[in-house]
Amino acid sequence: MTATIIDGKAIAEELRARVAAEVARVSAAHRLVPGIAVVQVGHNPASEVYVRSKTRQVAAAGMRSFDHRLPEDVREAELLALLARLNTDAAVHGILVQLPLPAQIDAQKVIDAIDPAKDVDGFHPLNVGRLATGMPVMIPCTPLGCMMLVNRVRPSLAGLDAVVIGRSNVVGRPLLHLLLAESATVTIAHSKTHDLPALCRRMDLLFAAIGQPALVKADWIKPGATVIDVGINRIAAADGKTHIVGDVDFAQARDIAGAITPVPGGVGPMTIACLLVNTLRAACVISHLPAPAV
Ligand code: NDP
Repeated sequence: MTATIIDGKAIAEELRARVAAEVARVSAAHRLVPGIAVVQVGHNPASEVYVRSKTRQVAAAGMRSFDHRLPEDVREAELLALLARLNTDAAVHGILVQLPLPAQIDAQKVIDAIDPAKDVDGFHPLNVGRLATGMPVMIPCTPLGCMMLVNRVRPSLAGLDAVVIGRSNVVGRPLLHLLLAESATVTIAHSKTHDLPALCRRMDLLFAAIGQPALVKADWIKPGATVIDVGINRIAAADGKTHIVGDVDFAQARDIAGAITPVPGGVGPMTIACLLVNTLRAACVISHLPAPAV
């Protein structure tokens, strides 16, 4: 069997086009231009690439982007003061602080300081709690993108067995709640899980959010299963170049899975597209407008 390749790049492009159309509609009808503030501390080459791409895509969607770069040695109080200003800035509907933060800054304190209504990452404890209790909420971008991808090939997840490998607050834990909300039967696995290959082989849906290149092998996968690979691992190849690979051994897995996301070109492009979705939704909620059609 050769798996259906879930083309995250194309799906993200479609989603961005729908966001842009809705942004054009709300700005014409209500003079509302959604705006997102991106706060970056210090200099991290991976973050730089991500932030540049984010800024470009925000502009292409017709939204405003406010970039704030703070020095590596910035004091926590200064960052918190900036967030307080952004929380009350009427042009800013979404606030995103690029993680990780330097050691002198308490990341949780920073997340707690963001107005939950502008928390487009969905990391504020209030939003985490709302997601866990099944309330309407700002859903973290990467898990939201994963759900959109899986729903492309499996419109109903009811009764399916799902495993999420990884229990981070950014990916694994939010995915648990999103899958439960769609009535899948969910197992969360992590580094202490016994016999992970055997566990995975029973699963209709496999989400890998581990950070270990090609850890998931073909013989971990149930024939016909849907595999969503969140991993982004940079490895030095024999040609001296850096390559990006996922957490799943794609070349092998595609012969056994029913559907699979590639890396790159799977979950990655969905993350920024979902950030645009969240910013547009936040702008509508804050402005007391009906939810946008994305
Ligand atoms: P974390 O490092 O926070 O979490 C990794 C998880 O994997 C942990 O729960 C850990 O278990 C588990 N794990 C590690 N090794 C093993 C193993 N050998 N067997 C089973 N479980 C293991 O990572 P993130 O959740 O932040 O990210 C995961 C991956 O997703 C990374 O490659 C990251 O780059 C990528 N990512 C991609 C995004 C995108 O836009 N596509 C966005 C965010 C992340 P334990 O808890 O026991 O330590």
